Parts: sequence; structure tokens; C-alpha cells
Amino acid sequence: MSRFIPVIGLEVHIELATKSKMFCGCSADHFAKEPNTQVCPVCLGLPGALPYANFSAIEQTVMFGLSMNCKINRFSKFDRKHYFYPDLPKGYQISQYDFPFCVKGKFQIPNSKNQIRIRRIHLEEDTAKLVHQFGDSKEKGISLVDFNRSGVPLVEMVTEPEFSDVDSVISFLQEIQLLVRYLGISSADMEKGSMRLEANISLAKAQKSKLQSEDLPNYKVELKNINSFRFLRKALNAEIKRQKRILRKGGKVTQETRGYDEYKNITFSQRIKEEAMDYRYFPEPDIPPIRFSKTQIEDIKSKIPELPAAKRKRLEEKYGISKEYIEILVQDKRRCDYFEKSCEISGNKELSAKSIAGALINQNLDRKFESPYEFIRYLKKISKKYYSSLKEIEDAIQKVLSDNSKAVKDYHEGNSNVIGFLIGQVQKMLKGRGEPKLIRESLIKALQKD
Ligand code: ADP
Ligand code: MG
Ligand code: ZN
Repeated sequence: MSRFIPVIGLEVHIELATKSKMFCGCSADHFAKEPNTQVCPVCLGLPGALPYANFSAIEQTVMFGLSMNCKINRFSKFDRKHYFYPDLPKGYQISQYDFPFCVKGKFQIPNSKNQIRIRRIHLEEDTAKLVHQFGDSKEKGISLVDFNRSGVPLVEMVTEPEFSDVDSVISFLQEIQLLVRYLGISSADMEKGSMRLEANISLAKAQKSKLQSEDLPNYKVELKNINSFRFLRKALNAEIKRQKRILRKGGKVTQETRGYDEYKNITFSQRIKEEAMDYRYFPEPDIPPIRFSKTQIEDIKSKIPELPAAKRKRLEEKYGISKEYIEILVQDKRRCDYFEKSCEISGNKELSAKSIAGALINQNLDRKFESPYEFIRYLKKISKKYYSSLKEIEDAIQKVLSDNSKAVKDYHEGNSNVIGFLIGQVQKMLKGRGEPKLIRESLIKALQKD
């Protein structure tokens, strides 16, 4: 039986969290707002309205591209992409065609040696949102259009078809989500549609161990309407199974767009693309092309904060804490800052970074102590007071009991007052570092065994 290797390429849309929309002054914060309240002639596509580009959105796109090791085009422009659909009032979308802002990047899949090449990252405008309402019958159903989302800046990133397993796809996408949150350019919430995923998938016959570009299958199936990582994982696995079944029987997989039915755990055909759509792209005549100087690009680069991959590496080198702790901290920038501040305050004298991380993560102490100063003061107090282990406590108890046979005898004769005396002796032996409650419990246990 022939073996098949999945070939997967991704298209990811990310809505930028700018104040205003891409080509007008309307608010870009559209989620759950009263429909059609954040609109103007530009984003409604009224005749004669003139768009002007949001520079902040362009800057954020370039920042994203630099973070994905892309080359930034010194010359770029916007183009009109034509198609007809009710969510697109102008009949075309302002997008980028042959000169996108960013090209030819590469990005490391976390916890893997593999890099994925990024084909392009471009900027476009989001469409309006269609809301379908079904009446008693299909004929009575209506579709409503909410233009609040129309014209919100939308970044599209396209990878080369270089993923060969589902785990890598998910890790890569989770890292992209984290990255844009670090950059502060998007909330990247999938349930709000600020991050949208499309996966293209085909199966190649395994000939060599590694896939060569000439082995690229001559078809691809596009999975659409994916709104969570979990959903994408299941959809890809179901689609791989389906394609395998067809190919093993000697069949051909149809090039098409498919959705995923979670209930039945199968993908289903949505739209068959006979041939490539002709979008009749041409340069947007109302927006002048954009030119970047080297210093402008350097300027944007200098605004990029420490990114997740660099943070992981630094935390490991500087603190030597476990991979599990590092991951928890990297996923939560606020908490990571709290941890680092705590280490700085403690000065690494009595408390190790490991014990600070442990106390923070296992006991959620950052919720109890708002300031890392209080947190460290607390840790120092308890570590000074009680750092005898249970084993040390039990050893001390054994020693105290054998040295004080008279007191033990008194206890068994019903004089429970001696307990206080015995606790004192144990504490003395531990130099006051045993936790009283623990000593008491262990002592009574030992006496009852005696
Ligand atoms: P289109 O012109 O239909 O948009 P592209 O070649 O531009 O197709 O690729 C779109 C997406 O599909 C990219 O993410 C790319 O990585 C992916 N892709 C291209 N060919 C394949 C293939 N044979 N199998 C899986 N994914 C593919
Ligand atoms: Mg495409
Ligand atoms: Zn507007």
C-alpha cells in the first residue's frame, strides 16, 4: 500500500486593532456594536467617496512581516480585487496584488527544527458582515448587511505548502496568535473573528523521505469556516482520511472548497472551483503607491518588543527553569513580567528562580499579592520560618521521643499536657524551622504508634 504525506498550506487573516478603519475615519472596533452605526460614505462604498490609507495599519503590517523574517518591499501599492457579493458594496475590495508589503519570510515552528516559508503578507479591507435570518420557510428568510466591519484593516498571511503534519500546523498557528498579541496589533480572538484560518490540503505519494517541490500534487482542497484550533485539527484529520480513501482506490480528489461537520466528523463540499477566479486586479487609482526608506523600516523594526521565541530562550538561559514553567510564563506576558520582577527583587540570595516560579505558578500567588514586593516578602517569611521537610520533622520527633521517655510515659498515662513540651523540644531541634501544625500532627501520630 502506498504511503501518503499530507501537504498543507495556510492562509491566515488577522484583523488589526487600529483605532480607525483602513480607508476612512470610522471606528474599527466593530465587535457587538449596534449594526450600521460605524459607517460613512467611504466604507459604504458610495459613489465619489475617496479613500485615504491608515498609516498605522501599514506600520503594523510591516512590523508583523519583520517579525516573520519577511523582506519588506520598498515599493508597494494597493490594488482593486473585483468580485460581486452583497458584503462588498463597491464591487471590489481594496487589497494588494503584485507588490504586497511583505514577501519571502520564514518562521520556525515551536518545538521543532522545521521552518515554514512565508509567501507573502499583505493588507486589505474587511468586508461587511452578512446576517442570515430564517423565517418560517426558506422563502421568508432574509439576509441583513452590517457595514460596521466593512473597511476594517485586515492582514492576510500566506504560507508555502510546507506543513506535512497536523501538529505542526496547530503549533505554528498558536505561535502566530501569540506573536500578534505580543506585537499588540490584534486581539486575534477566533471566536470574535479577529483571526480566521483557511487550510489548503492535498496528499503526496511518499517517494523519498522528504517532500520535494516537484512532488506537489496538482490539486488542493481548501477548508473554510474554521473558527478554532481544535476544530481545524479535527477537520484536517477528517480530510486526510477522506483523501487517502479516494487515492487508495485509484480515484482523483476534486479541487474544491469544503466545510467541516463536527457532529458527523466529516468534511463536505461547499463550492467547486472549476478554474481560477478572474478578479481583474488593477492598481487602486485613488491611493498613491507607498515607498519606504531604509530608515523608516529600521524605525519600525526598533519598535518590535521581545518576541515569544526569544523570550523562551532568554528565560531558559537566565533562570534555568523547566520548559513547562517557561511555557506558562511566555503564554502570559503580564505574569512573566511579574516573575522577572520578583527574581530581581529577591536578588537570588535565599530564593531560587525555580522556587519563585513554583510558588507563583502552582499557588497562583500573583493573584493574592498584587505587588511582586509583597510576594517576595511573603516567600522569604515562610521560607525562613518553615523550611524543614516532613522527613526532617519525623526524624526530629523520633529523636525527641527516645530522649524523653518519661514524657512519653506520662502521655500514655493520660497526661496530654506533655505534648506542648514535646513540640517545644522538636522545634528546638529544628531551630524553629518546622511548621507547628505539621509537628503537632506528626507527633501525635508517632505517640499513638509508640
Ligand atoms: P490560489 O492561486 O488558488 O490562491 P496559491 O498557489 O496561491 O493558490 O496557494 C494558496 C494556498 O494554497 C497557499 O497557502 C499555498 O501554500 C497552498 N497550496 C498551494 N498548492 C497546494 C497543494 N498542492 N496542496 C496544499 N496546499 C497548497
Ligand atoms: Mg488565495
Ligand atoms: Zn467609514
